[in-house]
Amino acid sequence: MPKVRMVKCPECGGEFEFEDYLEIGDTTFCGSCDMELKIIRLDPPQVEVVKSLDDESDLDEEGDAEEF
Ligand SMILES: [Zn+2]
Repeated sequence: MPKVRMVKCPECGGEFEFEDYLEIGDTTFCGSCDMELKIIRLDPPQVEVVKSLDDESDLDEEGDAEEF
């Protein structure tokens, strides 16, 4: 049975379900405050607030992109 992981929102401090399909660099939304959050770690799950003002687009190009 799938285990539900919870992740803490750095914005409001609330916890919400961390969907299994999420990967580092993906974005999700806090279930409590609806803040856009980026996944920065998977085990344990950790997210950071996506700063829309910060226009840095330093994409991780590690060349091991997995295709579905
Ligand atoms: Zn929140």
